[in-house]
Amino acid sequence: MQLNYRDERDPIALIVDDDSTARFMARQALEPAGFVVHEAGDGGSALHAFVTLHPDIVVLDVMMPVMDGLEACARIRGLPGGAHTPILMLTGLDDTASINRAYEVGATDFATKPVNYVLLAHRLRYLLRAKITADALRESEARLTNAQRIAKLCHWEWEPGHGIQWSAEAKTVLGLPSLDLVRDYKRLLALIPAEDQAKVQAAIAEAWKQGTGFGLEHGLESPNGVFRTVYQEAECIKDEQMGSCRLVGTLQDVTERRRAEKQIERLVYYEKTTGLPNRALLKKKLAELLVEAKRENQGLAILILDLAGVKPVNDSFGRSRGDQVLRQVAKRLTELLDCGEQAALARAGLQEQCMFLGHLGGDEFCVLRKGVESAEDVALLARRIQNELAQPISLGDHEVCLGCSVGISIYPEDGGDPEQLLKHGGAALHSAKKERGNQVKFFTPAMNQRVFRSLILEAQLRKALQLGQFVLHYQPKVDLKDGKAVGVEVLLRWQHPTRGLVYPGEFISVAEETGLIGPLGEWIFRAACERSIAFNDGDGTPLGVAVNISAAQFAQKDLYWRFAKVLELTGADPRCMELEITESLLLDAANLPTVYKLRKLGLRITMDDFGTGYSSLGYLKDFPLDSVKIDRSFIKGIRKDPADAAIVSAVIGLAHSLKLKVVAEGVENEAQVEVLRAMGCDQAQGYYYTRALGATEAQLWLNGRNQLARAPKAPA
Ligand code: C2E
Ligand code: CA
Ligand code: CA
Repeated sequence: MQLNYRDERDPIALIVDDDSTARFMARQALEPAGFVVHEAGDGGSALHAFVTLHPDIVVLDVMMPVMDGLEACARIRGLPGGAHTPILMLTGLDDTASINRAYEVGATDFATKPVNYVLLAHRLRYLLRAKITADALRESEARLTNAQRIAKLCHWEWEPGHGIQWSAEAKTVLGLPSLDLVRDYKRLLALIPAEDQAKVQAAIAEAWKQGTGFGLEHGLESPNGVFRTVYQEAECIKDEQMGSCRLVGTLQDVTERRRAEKQIERLVYYEKTTGLPNRALLKKKLAELLVEAKRENQGLAILILDLAGVKPVNDSFGRSRGDQVLRQVAKRLTELLDCGEQAALARAGLQEQCMFLGHLGGDEFCVLRKGVESAEDVALLARRIQNELAQPISLGDHEVCLGCSVGISIYPEDGGDPEQLLKHGGAALHSAKKERGNQVKFFTPAMNQRVFRSLILEAQLRKALQLGQFVLHYQPKVDLKDGKAVGVEVLLRWQHPTRGLVYPGEFISVAEETGLIGPLGEWIFRAACERSIAFNDGDGTPLGVAVNISAAQFAQKDLYWRFAKVLELTGADPRCMELEITESLLLDAANLPTVYKLRKLGLRITMDDFGTGYSSLGYLKDFPLDSVKIDRSFIKGIRKDPADAAIVSAVIGLAHSLKLKVVAEGVENEAQVEVLRAMGCDQAQGYYYTRALGATEAQLWLNGRNQLARAPKAPA
């Protein structure tokens, strides 16, 4: 029977007995079984032999002179390598006291004397094998502990009523002074940041309830304030017999890994110089926005900006100065587009973000704009960006002004996928750069024409307003019963220096789209108020002055205050002033409070162009109105088209039942006047009486008309 021990050498057995015969017998039994046998005659020499020979197993007689076996055993356990060496104690047959003591001092096993030498070798072999197994187990445990330490991993077990038991590594992994801090669930929760608590609680509750497991990442703050990100994975283990269950889990500190991931993300998705999203992230974002735009049926614009003026800075002051300029640009654009704070809120899901700014590298930037309603809006955004970048940038002792060309592509017109839209934006930029000066170009040529005509027009209109080129003309309204002029409608004209009088049909829509209608409309109202004071019907009775108001003017949140102030400053009588508004304005419920307030000031409200919009007669009773103006398209057909006549007559009937006055516009001949008068229409206006006239002419016309009307048998 050969017995090899780990490193293939024969195992060493140390036989300790004061009886030399007993030692001899043991040697005789063990050597043939492959043991290398050493002997010692008392406890003292046994300790010496243990230290020098490192035996694999020790056989110790209890009763010995000098130092007995029990003491020797206890001492061996304290020696290096002695803790786990198997020790077989030899005791007297009925010496139970020694047997008990032997275990207390750490003996592995015992045999009674007289020894059965035939079985001794087998006995030792079994002890050795058990030790090898135990060694292997200890080693793998040590390896596991080591691995867990390296992986910053610990484990825990939670049995209801017993709190949470943690593995020893938990203390280091969690950085806690004592594991008592996490033995119960409540104390553990207290270390988890508020924003993560709910999800941890939910996962644990779910695991208990369903008998399932979870994997979850959350923060953990140790009492000394060190923050960690940890990953927990847990499983619910059921004991079918006991009908109980417990949660077991691992917890790993993943702080470093997450930090590294963040860093990698920074490197992969953000531009080094400016910290703005780079092309890769921009493409990802564009793909996301496109999905949204398609779902919500909205437009999306891609503006690619190319700066002019950075290269000279690089060339004459060095790259670091150039980078400084780029950072300034990034900062300005972020502020202008409100990407900074708003973007943070958007990331937190608190607010919808509609602009996204990226740095494509070098001196190219890119803006994504969602919810695009018109190409004009996008062109205006491009102009705002150009204006912002045109402001000088300070480089300490120098100042630079940057130019900026912009190429624009728009979804859906210019493509449906990110690649294509970026490519087309790039092509548009290319053509913008070909022309000198800071150009803005759309990918679609037709869009360029349309948008820039209106942009040019807008610039001209702004200038016209500054230079006082707008004038008001007045078209009188006549009372159909007595033929007297009762008021005028104010109509805007542009006294163009070279083109002469330009009519609103050519420019009002541009003023509305660009927001210029705000200041322009206020100017019109003020000029009309001033004029209203002078107008009268010839004997001093004031006349009504009606001003057209666009729905777009209501974009001004303070419209009410502005108008109230104009009335106060001009001293005009609000009861003489009338606002002509359209159905579309009333249909937006948000505008209604302003209309009510304006009416409360004393202003009269007329629904203009009635019949052209969504017209429902039902509306008339729901809105704050004083009169209705029937659109000229119905007046035109009133004699020949029975449908038109029916509509006009119905509107008049209903309006009267609601105590509203009815005005007919676009009256061009006597026959129309007859029909309208027969239908009971209150007032009329149109070329039949006169076109809109300049202020002086209008006053003369009014005077003449009313003198005539006062004369007996006045014509209608
Ligand atoms: P509207 O409010 O329907 O104004 C009536 C338009 O019909 C005026 O054109 C007027 O000159 C014209 N008209 C008057 N009588 C007759 C007629 O017998 N036959 C025909 N065929 N046309 C007649 P205008 O001045 O060119 O104004 C066009 C539109 O521009 C106006 O339509 C109004 O919507 C807008 N507008 C004009 N002035 C202003 C203003 O001061 N502010 C705002 N917001 N819009 C204005
Ligand atoms: Ca009108
Ligand atoms: Ca009209």
